[in-house]
Amino acid sequence: MQHEKVVIIGSGPAGLTAALYTARANLNPIVLAGTQLGGQVSLTYEVENYPGFPEGLGGPELVEKFQKQAERFGARIEYDVVTEVDFEHGSPFMVKTASKTYEADTVIITTGATPRKLNIPGEEAFVGRGVSYCATCDGFFFRGKDVVVVGGGDSALEEGIFLTRFANNVNLIHRRDSLRAGTLLQDRARSSDKFGFTWETVVDEIAGKDTVEAVKVRNIKTGEIDTIKTDGVFIFIGHYPNTELFKGQLAMDEHGYLITDKLMQTSVEGVFAAGEAQDSVFRQVATSVGQGTAAGMSAIRWLEQHEAEMTSVIG
Ligand code: NAP
Repeated sequence: MQHEKVVIIGSGPAGLTAALYTARANLNPIVLAGTQLGGQVSLTYEVENYPGFPEGLGGPELVEKFQKQAERFGARIEYDVVTEVDFEHGSPFMVKTASKTYEADTVIITTGATPRKLNIPGEEAFVGRGVSYCATCDGFFFRGKDVVVVGGGDSALEEGIFLTRFANNVNLIHRRDSLRAGTLLQDRARSSDKFGFTWETVVDEIAGKDTVEAVKVRNIKTGEIDTIKTDGVFIFIGHYPNTELFKGQLAMDEHGYLITDKLMQTSVEGVFAAGEAQDSVFRQVATSVGQGTAAGMSAIRWLEQHEAEMTSVIG
């Protein structure tokens, strides 16, 4: 059992910021990063709305800066996946990974969120062969090809616009007749001659032989069924929080987002959460960084109080 003052689960902007703050308080935090550092932003081609970078910068570049800054003050990053936690008996908490068991005085959860799936025939079978949840990762493979994008939020528009760099044609299929995405992104999409829209339509099936060749769609107003030929299907229909591990131990809302108070404390004293594991509303790098800051500061204060209480009990 390895004893730690601060264990941070997850390594996106919230986790690396919590690491920076707790490291600067000399707590030598350990970040259990999972298999990939940086979370969703590391898959983002360009971040234009993170303050301090007026020209924008690449997602992986921003993650590298977060990492270097946290490590400069003593944060340690382990590429390990948490498999089990025990928060039921209070601090110190048990955090188990594939390779080690930690005893943590305080835990900060920043496990983020995962893209939602359509759960339609062909979706799973064609992942990596035409179905994708990340334009930045896979857009290059669709140079000169036709793709469809499913969804009507900021992600669908942002990623769809990115895909116009490669694809001949980007057809956004949305289940309603208006978009949820912000007007700036809508204007950009509408001004591209490669970008088209198919309204009030859902995708019922993804079809092909070795790779995607078509989607079967249905107009939800008329019920009309159609087949649209395409080489790729990019799905951006929202996310779900990565909180399965904490079920039964921490309070969550009906969608699985962790419930935190304004100090970012979960339902268990000494366990904090930040970023998309607990935020279904803002979901920005900047807000995750803010929440990571708050969780880090709260953990520092909680440890000070907890240690003082323990000393007075022992003393
Ligand atoms: P989102 O805002 O929840 O949008 C999801 C979209 O998918 C909605 O248009 C929704 O349709 C559609 N959808 C959901 N389930 C579907 C299904 N089963 N079949 C077909 N369509 C379905 O998710 P998001 O776009 O990933 O954005 C999440 C958050 O991140 C938002 O707060 C967003 O502002 C933020 N974000 C911001 C930026 C930026 O600022 N540049 C970039 C990306 C994301 P309905 O509209 O009909 O509900």
